[in-house]
Amino acid sequence: MSEIELGPTRPLVPPLYCSAVYSFPDLDALEAVYRGQVSGFVYARDAHPNAVSLARSLASWESAKWCMVTASGMAALALTLMALLRAGDVVVASRRLYGRTLQLLTEELPRWQVHTYLVDLDDTAALAAALARRPRLVLVETLSNPTLRLADIPRLAQLCHEVGAHLLVDNTFATPVLCQPLRLGADFVVESLTKMLAGHSDVTLGAAFGREDEAWERLRRVCTIFGWTGNPFDCWLAERGLQTLAVRMQQASRTAQALADWLAQHPRIRRVIYPGRPDHPDHDLARRLFSGNYGNMLSIELAGGREAVNQFLRRQDKIVLAPSLGDVRTICTHPASTSHRYAPPEENAREGITDGLLRISVGLEPLEELQEAFRRGLDFADA
Ligand SMILES: *Cc1c(COP(=O)(O)O)cnc(C)c1O
Repeated sequence: MSEIELGPTRPLVPPLYCSAVYSFPDLDALEAVYRGQVSGFVYARDAHPNAVSLARSLASWESAKWCMVTASGMAALALTLMALLRAGDVVVASRRLYGRTLQLLTEELPRWQVHTYLVDLDDTAALAAALARRPRLVLVETLSNPTLRLADIPRLAQLCHEVGAHLLVDNTFATPVLCQPLRLGADFVVESLTKMLAGHSDVTLGAAFGREDEAWERLRRVCTIFGWTGNPFDCWLAERGLQTLAVRMQQASRTAQALADWLAQHPRIRRVIYPGRPDHPDHDLARRLFSGNYGNMLSIELAGGREAVNQFLRRQDKIVLAPSLGDVRTICTHPASTSHRYAPPEENAREGITDGLLRISVGLEPLEELQEAFRRGLDFADA
C-alpha cells in the first residue's frame, strides 16, 4: 500500500495505528531503532504509537514519571506484582479489595511462593503486626468496593517506607480527578481504564504508574515478555475518553452528592453510603485527600432486601443492572450476587453487604431523570 501524502497538513485527531509490525528501509535503520538512537517502533506487543500516546496523557493525570498501558486493569496488577516480587516475598493487602485482585493474591501468587496477609486497614494493631512481617509490597484501594471506605494513603506510605515496603494503590474508583496517590506518598498506582478513565464501557484496558526509572525498565520488560500490552484501537478510544474525564467526573460527582442527599431522605432507603456525606465514616479523610469532589460512586441499602431490589429493577429501565462502573449512563450492581457472592456470609454481614445493598455508578443524566427513575423503581407496596 502506498503512503498517503498529507502535505503540510496534519490530522487533528491522533491516527489509529493498527499495524502489528513496522518495516525498515535497511539493516542500519533497524539497528538504530533497536539501539534507541532514533525513535521508531518494531513490534506492537513491545510498543505502539497509540499506547505511547495514551501513556503520556495518563502519566500527566497521575503525576507519574512513567505509565505502562496494559490489556486490562487485572493485567496492570499482574504486571506490577510479577515485575516487583520474587519467590519468598510477603505482600500485605487490604481485606477490602476487588474480588479478582484477592484471587490473584491468595489463589495464584502462592504458586510462585509469594504469600499475602490480608488486614483490615482500620485495625491498627493488625496492620502493625502484618508490617512486622517485612512485606515487599502493600496493596490498597483508594476507595473500596462497595462500602467506599478510604485508605489513608499518606499514613500508609509512611508506615510502608519505615519497613522498606512499597505502597501500591489501585486508584480505579477514585480516578486521578479525585486523588493522585503518587503525590500522597504511594510508590506505584494501577488503574482499570475500563471504568471511569475511558468512561464509555467500550474499552478493556489498564495502566500501571510509578516514579522510578529502575522499576520502569522492569515493568516494560515483564509486560512485553508476558504479553500484557493493550491493543491500539482500545488505546485510541481510551485517549478519546480521557479528553472528557475531568468534566465527566465533576458532573457525575455533583449529581452523586445531590442524589445521595435526596435518597437519604427516602423512606424506602435504609442507608446511603457516600464519602461526600458527613455521616460517612471516612468523610474527614475524603475532605483531606480528595480534590473537593467525592466521586460518582454511591451505595444504598433498600428496605425490603432482595425482593425490593428486584422490584426496583423491574419498575424502571433507566438504571440498569450491569456489573461495572464509570459509564456515561447510570448503572447499578448488586454486590451480594456478584462481587461478594463467594465471600463468607459473616464477613459480608460485618461489612454491611446485605441483600438490599445496591451500588450505583452515577453517569451524566440530569439529576431529575435519576430521581424520577428512583421514584418509579421504589413505588411499590410491599417494602
Ligand atoms: C474493574 C476493576 C479492576 C480490574 O480491571 P479490568 O479492566 O476489569 O481488568 C481492578 N480494580 C478495581 C478496583 C476495579 O474496579
